[in-house]
Amino acid sequence: MTQSISFIGLGAMGYRMAAHLPKVFDDVRVWNRSIEKSEKHAHEFGTQAVSLEHAVQADIIFSCLPTSQDIEDLIARVDIKSGAIWVDCTSGVPKSARLLAPLLLEKGVHYLDAPVSGQTIGAENATLTFMVGGQKSAFDCALPAMQAMGKLIKHVGDSGAGFAVKAVNNMLLAIHLCAACEGASTLKSHGVNLQEAFDCINASSGQSGVTTTVLPNRVFNRSFPSTFALSLLAKDTRIALDLVRESQLSAPIIAASQGLVQAASNLSEHGSDFSTLAKMYESINQLTIE
Ligand code: NDP
Repeated sequence: MTQSISFIGLGAMGYRMAAHLPKVFDDVRVWNRSIEKSEKHAHEFGTQAVSLEHAVQADIIFSCLPTSQDIEDLIARVDIKSGAIWVDCTSGVPKSARLLAPLLLEKGVHYLDAPVSGQTIGAENATLTFMVGGQKSAFDCALPAMQAMGKLIKHVGDSGAGFAVKAVNNMLLAIHLCAACEGASTLKSHGVNLQEAFDCINASSGQSGVTTTVLPNRVFNRSFPSTFALSLLAKDTRIALDLVRESQLSAPIIAASQGLVQAASNLSEHGSDFSTLAKMYESINQLTIE
């Protein structure tokens, strides 16, 4: 059966993700709040720039907006095709998924929380990881479309489980980022060459994705490319901390790191990359991490 696919939200992630769909599906529709982006996408990749009303009449509807609140507001505005599967790739709030899934099911629509990791480079190369919560039967139906954009695609549980895994993943990224900035600041203050130091650390037990890629490729070389906003990372850490609090757990490292990421985000210019968190450490320690 020929399936129609829509992608809603052509931001840093969505624009690149949706580009892979026409390789597998004939009827690919895109919608973006600022219409110029969907028109450009259609021109560049052979998708169809459509109205929001038309986009939600597809068999499978992907979305990738900044927050769950944006998704809830958008869903409240539209009449979605009965029988459709809504695959929400936003890094969202588990509670929102648990609210939307039964609400949409009353209208015959299946909602999957399906956040992704792998950054813009993973979106470009179709190597994203999808962590998906919701009904397994809906997951199975949407799997080929997710496979067009990702490499590891996992059903991790009921509604909300995908968002929870993503929040904890990004909380760990935030913790590693704070820890690596503190380690680098310490070495710098003792006159150690950071490039040489991180060559050693990256061959040792202190190594992480942050020490191997984020610091060398974004901070040490002062490039701070804007691919993932610090404000979005702050949002993810708030979601993770809320999960900790809902279960009345003690997780002091999560709480402290959330405070640091939030402070850095509040201090940063709108749209700054997550790697600019290093600049907060530079400011409070009066040194540069380079
Ligand atoms: P961007 O800020 O680049 O893009 C946001 C998109 O959402 C734009 O298309 C924007 O439209 C649209 N949008 C914003 N607000 C609304 C609204 N109220 N109604 C309708 N459309 C809206 O974000 P990203 O692509 O970076 O991130 C999207 C999601 O993916 C976030 O949840 C983020 O945490 C997550 N994510 C991001 C990664 C990254 O590396 N960037 C990696 C993995 C996950 P317009 O063009 O009109 O502004």
